[in-house]
Amino acid sequence: MPLTFGPDRQTREFTCDCCGAPIERAWNFVHANGAPYALYYANCYHHRDQDHDAWIDVIFGTWGVGPDQWDDHISFACRVGPVVDRPGPASTLVTAGLVNPDGPLFGHKLDREAALQHPRLPEFWQVSDFVLENDPLVRGHIYGR
Ligand SMILES: [Zn+2]
Repeated sequence: MPLTFGPDRQTREFTCDCCGAPIERAWNFVHANGAPYALYYANCYHHRDQDHDAWIDVIFGTWGVGPDQWDDHISFACRVGPVVDRPGPASTLVTAGLVNPDGPLFGHKLDREAALQHPRLPEFWQVSDFVLENDPLVRGHIYGR
């Protein structure tokens, strides 16, 4: 399934609660076959004393049909960054929606255990890999600008 970005990519910069370093966020729709397919939020961290990593949330649901509805939304998330004993960045499943704990947009937020057993997990990896390789903020943060 060929993926493309939607037309309305946005970015914003925050300040980290733990260390005051900047957090860069990018979000956008990913389209499949020309129609909105998933929404992602990517947060890139520059913590002073920790690894520089990125956390990618991906939300699947029904998009663009009348008023916003969240009841079929489901979200996955991963951390991408250095891990012990491996060269290069690795992706690790984490609990989804941590950046937006009260928002209905994320729907059912899967934790790692639930995500591992979910039939849409391969779709999540496809979208998160697409974001990692093609979103300029995330790609630059993980692989260097
Ligand atoms: Zn920090």
